[in-house]
Amino acid sequence: MEQMEQKTRDYVYSFLAKESGVSPKAIKEHKDMGLVAVYDQDTDTIFIKDLKKIPTIDELFAIAHEWRHVWQSKIHPEDLNDYRERAECQDLEDYNNQPAEIDANAWAWIVVSKMLGGKGRPTFPSLSRETVAKIEERKKELETEE
Ligand SMILES: [Zn+2]
Repeated sequence: MEQMEQKTRDYVYSFLAKESGVSPKAIKEHKDMGLVAVYDQDTDTIFIKDLKKIPTIDELFAIAHEWRHVWQSKIHPEDLNDYRERAECQDLEDYNNQPAEIDANAWAWIVVSKMLGGKGRPTFPSLSRETVAKIEERKKELETEE
């Protein structure tokens, strides 16, 4: 079982690397955090809460989202110029309205749908319809660029 889990993760990471053209220096486990995945720009590391099991679709989405932050950081650093951490934002809505977050959610939506071979639509339960509409607009832009 463990071998299959590793294979699944390797598949996910190589898929994301191929789609984005970038990879983080390291992917490490960090059990002691509230989020499923986090990208640390200073160490160029994606931290994942649980590396031992096959990711759920939500976890896949979170990993893809963080992977896009790797891309932003390496290829489009200007995207992160005015970036504010969660604690510096008024609320979650404010945080998720930042261009880098809209872009990361849009990209994750595209690649996770691709990975699952279908059209799947994330529900973004914690976001307003306005923010989801912006994500969808960015997704269309990215799909036209391809
Ligand atoms: Zn993010």
